[in-house]
Amino acid sequence: MNVNQPAPPGVPYGQPQPGYTGYQSSYGGQPGPIIPPSPYGAYNGPMPGYQQLPPPGVPRAPPSSGTPPASTTVRGPSSQSAYGQFGQGDVQNGPSSTVQMQRAPVSQPFVPAPVAPLVNQPAAFQPYGPPPTSAQVTTQMAGMQISGPAGPPPSGLGYGLPPTSMASASGSFQGSNLYGSYPQNLAPPTSLAQAHPGAQTPQCCAPMQASSFPPSAAGGPRPPSIAGPSMPGQSFGGPPVSQSNHASSPPPQTQPPMPGPPGPPPPMHSSQPGYQLQQNGSFGPARGPQPNYGGAYSGAPNFASPPGPPQPPPPKRLDPDSIPSPIQVIEDDRNNRGSEPFVTGARGQVPPLVTTNFLVKDQGNASPRYIRCTSYNIPCTSDMAKQAQVPLAAVIKPLAKLPPEEAPPYVVDHGESGPVRCNRCKAYMCPFMQFIEGGRRFQCCFCSCVTEVPPQYFQHLDHTGKRVDFYDRPELSLGSYEFLATVDYCKNNKFPRPPAFIFMIDVSYNAVRSGLVRLLCEELKSLLDFLPREGGAEESAIRVGFVTYNKVLHFYNVKSSLAQPQMMVVSDVADMFVPLLDGFLVNVSESRTVITSLLDQIPEMFADTRETETVFAPVIQAGMEALKAAECPGKLFLFHTSLPIAEAPGKLKNRDDRKLLNTDKEKTLFQPQTGFYQSLAKECVAQGCCVDLFLFPNQYVDVATLGVVPYHTGGSIYKYACFQVESDQERFLSDLRRDVQKDVGFDAVMRVRTSTGIRATDFFGAFYMSNTTDVELAGLDGDKTVTVEFKHDDRLSEDSGALIQCALLYTSCAGQRRLRIHNLSLNCCTQLADLYRNCETDTLINYLAKLAYRGVLSSPVKTVRDALISQCAQILACYRKNCASPSSAGQLILPECMKLLPVYLNCVLKSDVLQPGVEVTTDDRAYVRQLVTSMDVAETNVFFYPRLLPLTKVPVESSAEPPAVRASEERLSKGDVYLLENGLNLFLWVGASVQQGVVQSLFSVPSFSQINSGLSALPVLENPLSKRVRDLIDSFRAQRSRYMKLIVVKQEDKLEMLFKHFLVEDKSLSGGASYVDFLCHMHKEIRQLLS
Ligand SMILES: [Zn+2]
Repeated sequence: MNVNQPAPPGVPYGQPQPGYTGYQSSYGGQPGPIIPPSPYGAYNGPMPGYQQLPPPGVPRAPPSSGTPPASTTVRGPSSQSAYGQFGQGDVQNGPSSTVQMQRAPVSQPFVPAPVAPLVNQPAAFQPYGPPPTSAQVTTQMAGMQISGPAGPPPSGLGYGLPPTSMASASGSFQGSNLYGSYPQNLAPPTSLAQAHPGAQTPQCCAPMQASSFPPSAAGGPRPPSIAGPSMPGQSFGGPPVSQSNHASSPPPQTQPPMPGPPGPPPPMHSSQPGYQLQQNGSFGPARGPQPNYGGAYSGAPNFASPPGPPQPPPPKRLDPDSIPSPIQVIEDDRNNRGSEPFVTGARGQVPPLVTTNFLVKDQGNASPRYIRCTSYNIPCTSDMAKQAQVPLAAVIKPLAKLPPEEAPPYVVDHGESGPVRCNRCKAYMCPFMQFIEGGRRFQCCFCSCVTEVPPQYFQHLDHTGKRVDFYDRPELSLGSYEFLATVDYCKNNKFPRPPAFIFMIDVSYNAVRSGLVRLLCEELKSLLDFLPREGGAEESAIRVGFVTYNKVLHFYNVKSSLAQPQMMVVSDVADMFVPLLDGFLVNVSESRTVITSLLDQIPEMFADTRETETVFAPVIQAGMEALKAAECPGKLFLFHTSLPIAEAPGKLKNRDDRKLLNTDKEKTLFQPQTGFYQSLAKECVAQGCCVDLFLFPNQYVDVATLGVVPYHTGGSIYKYACFQVESDQERFLSDLRRDVQKDVGFDAVMRVRTSTGIRATDFFGAFYMSNTTDVELAGLDGDKTVTVEFKHDDRLSEDSGALIQCALLYTSCAGQRRLRIHNLSLNCCTQLADLYRNCETDTLINYLAKLAYRGVLSSPVKTVRDALISQCAQILACYRKNCASPSSAGQLILPECMKLLPVYLNCVLKSDVLQPGVEVTTDDRAYVRQLVTSMDVAETNVFFYPRLLPLTKVPVESSAEPPAVRASEERLSKGDVYLLENGLNLFLWVGASVQQGVVQSLFSVPSFSQINSGLSALPVLENPLSKRVRDLIDSFRAQRSRYMKLIVVKQEDKLEMLFKHFLVEDKSLSGGASYVDFLCHMHKEIRQLLS
């Protein structure tokens, strides 16, 4: 057996080697991965089991390099066929019939030369006028066009004179190309003229000179924003003139709590007091002292001194201190596993918890930062798996960011021959492949097929059967690495072009009024210098483009040779096309002057807009078409404010209906209201067009529908309800900066291969699937995970274990096509006890939450909740029946690794998606549902069970994080201050009896009563406590992928209800059970299953 052989000395990768020396420069500065075998000798041996031939009796294909039979084991089509779904697609702007003639010029290079004369030409279209209604717009514009004295734009532009009527519903060009200037000699209707003096109107194809568009030029004073004709869109919740609309709806964080008596939750009475609880049934390392679970509880000290009517002394119940505590488990793991690196050499090792800080040394298996499993020891048979009901799933984060101490995956270049793969299943070369016949062939660890080693890859074997270049090649010795892909792995057999970013900015009334447009444009001016770069590249390869929109779309030519940007308006949103190619996507540094000028002008141009209606789908279509025309992948950054009610494809209606809660129709609230966006998403994915959506709603915008495209393209959604620059800009800008700067893999396809016996059967996350095996991601960033479920399709063997190989094909931000490979080996067991000993509850919860959150799309919420409880009860009952030592039925026995399953499960059940309080909106639920679907294990862990830290107990000099306390009101001392975070929300809770000195130090006010409740930032004060708390807040924020806005909550203040929502061990106002009650309930369920 290889197992007991000493590990050969490692050879540093830094040595010259043919494989990937060529790419060291692009990872410059990265030290060669010195693999020090000696300190980790115990782990460093070759992986047991995999390097053997399959044991006799294990059904495997005979070694053969021949063509495999067309059996089910053939999972991997060739790379070409894997991309067969990427058709050539229509070349952009492929119009049909009559439209074609009119659009022909569109694909011609835009000629800026004839621009100057246009300045004085009459407008054919007024792109941002404040039309009182759509109908009026049509009339005005028709009139303008008819009476306009001038001819069409210069023939060189070829856009032709627009039809005179905007009302045409045909696919003809209508006003879409009407970018003539607003005629200065043509007086618009009075109301328009006041708001938009002719001089301010942007002129199509004309340089947008700032001087042409003074913010409030000579056309009379700008009318007050609330004046003006009645607005369209009233049917959907009031016109923008209705200020109350904005003023009266507070941000979600500060929404009024549900009506009801403020005060503590009702006392938590257990209906079944006095359970004998036992832990560590028959095995497992005891973590810490074992509490006596039998102790009856009779009134623990109530730290919170809650107000309200005097409570009767609670009857006997479980002692909260005696039931499994998340805090204790987290702490124990930190103490036991935080000090040593996690070395991935051995098969089936359970990694430290996600809450433990640890370093990873890759010695043949992927880091847990890339893959975490629900169990690292899986049952050999499907019967066993069914009995246990423990889901077999992996949460995979293929592009996870690593801490600076850990090297990113090495890039291996095999030249034109590409990576070495199994002939049959197409698995990539990995540490578990077995070389035979002196190194001339290798046997696949996934399908057992034998493949010839390509001549250029041949290498001799040492006396142990290991290739002598084992430590020189990442693909032979590491769990994670990358291959440079050859042209065979590229769409249409062409190497990709660098990606593009397109910023698409809603400039309707709400967006302008809230200050969003101005803020965003200002920020982009500097942010564009920080686009993702590869390696040591001086400049990002990413090109950028800009679109603004309301009911119509405005494209901008920002070609570097222009003195000023040029605007082109497309109002034919029914059949979207891109009016310019040359000059739309540009290099930032080359076009900096023009871009800066554009970003300066946009807020001015639309400052007086009255347009309240927006389109949405045509905006995405436009971005996708632009990428298609440029033949590159890319990302759209959409900044959008309202329900798209303007007449256009993908138009939506307000269908929010709270009466559907707790009915069979509740699921419709999570479903998109039209299938249109699904098809649009499919087109985007085929183009490698990822969509990130920033929402700024003042009311219902139907996140469930608007989120479909971001969701299926691997994009992100951000939501800032009732956005106000003053209070929300820090959060928005932080998110935006992070989002724009983060590394993204484009046009990605992920395939998970497994060894014989299990296969991937289900996938959860933000992606698209057009077949049952390939996860397609238009974009994938380092925050996104894909959760994969496995099922048995054969018997597994304890000797061979089980292997997972995740291969992600993607285009880097510099346009390089690559394959990232992650390998993980798991143990297999014939004893259920081994399964329960090697589970990871945090990952289990991640999977169960995603399963449930998908379930609400098709089943009533109650059904989903019941199914969750039932599955977990079965998991625990199976343990009790088969693994625990005999004991009385009155005892609840939990497996050591799963002792937190009940408390965490209860948090999932009480979450806003599955059991919303009255203050949770339909949009919030859809939003959270989508967020959770892409979360990794660390994120779901803190999201469902928030972190609560007392701030004054630890000496201020200490740099250590204060020890957390359980998320329960009982744990709050009224003399202390606490921080609570869940990855999305951040609270500072101040107890009513907190010392004056603390109040002064933190808030710079003399007493508790003078603290401003709802404060969103602490004053910057020069004292140790203030500094320490602010540092802690900063460190919390740095750990999370989204900026958490702080909310200061005073004890007994009305905002406290919001805070208490996150004290998840308590009974919730929406009816969620307390931890103690739920544990009793679970026990009852388990007993029923056992009897
Ligand atoms: Zn194979």
